[in-house]
Amino acid sequence: MENEILESWKKAGKIAAEAREYGKTLIKPESNFLEVSRKIEEFIVKKGAKPGFPVQLSINGIAAHYTAFPEDNSVFSEGNLVKLDLGAHINGYIGDTALTLEVSTNKNQELIKASKEALDAAIKLAKPGTKVCEIGEAVDNVITKYGFHPIKNLSGHKIDQYILHSNLSIPNYNNKDKTELEEDMIIAIEPFASTGMGLIKEGKASSNYRLYEFKPVRDSITKEILLFIKKEFSTLPFAKRYLVPKFPLAKVNYALSNLEKLGIIYQYPQLPEKEENCLVSQHEHTIYIKDKPIILTKVDD
Ligand code: MN
Ligand code: MN
Repeated sequence: MENEILESWKKAGKIAAEAREYGKTLIKPESNFLEVSRKIEEFIVKKGAKPGFPVQLSINGIAAHYTAFPEDNSVFSEGNLVKLDLGAHINGYIGDTALTLEVSTNKNQELIKASKEALDAAIKLAKPGTKVCEIGEAVDNVITKYGFHPIKNLSGHKIDQYILHSNLSIPNYNNKDKTELEEDMIIAIEPFASTGMGLIKEGKASSNYRLYEFKPVRDSITKEILLFIKKEFSTLPFAKRYLVPKFPLAKVNYALSNLEKLGIIYQYPQLPEKEENCLVSQHEHTIYIKDKPIILTKVDD
């Protein structure tokens, strides 16, 4: 990998890590989703990167893909199990990282430890020549040992410039995929531990979007918003709230719904566990594959 690219990636990873640790301090009873998200995203910009995707705050049984809506008045409550998942990018080189915490309680520490230890075990294997199914197996073993289930239909992923989810999945169980990791790959490993069955389903709309296929459009407000999206976010995910107040909310709603219907943008659904009333934890790091794995989203060094 070219040195300049690697330096950008390392810097983005470090900023993502710092943002994650900063975000952790903001999540308390009564603090609100919108403000916490905005503060973390401003922090990323102040440090010299941009959000790699909108800050995700998924609670309890929602495994992933909840970002604050433009007029979201959700607040954290005591006992919430919060997955904070965020990214920072420089020139499209993204650091993607997540942690789980509980708000002012201590009743789900085993579940939190399960995904964290699974991540540690997986990282130890993240070297050239390791088959991705071996990583999945290591994740599964740790989480199962704790008495929980790994989420099988969520996975880590390779990351390429401006492509958050590139074409290699890093499974959370032994899926028999014998594809080997190669030197110089950048991958995100993200074990999810669930008290439920270990499968997610597609839930409600999330207000997380990404540009899917750029096509010219005629309607003037839709066109203006599309060009803004292309210029600001390229192919990286963005949130509806990023478009407000630059554009009035009614116009944003109108344009996004047009663009979604035209297949130009894609809206991510929220991803809740299939089982009702269960809890899900997640930890994630972005790793640079070398003989000794390099964690890009670590705070130190
Ligand atoms: Mn993530
Ligand atoms: Mn990820």
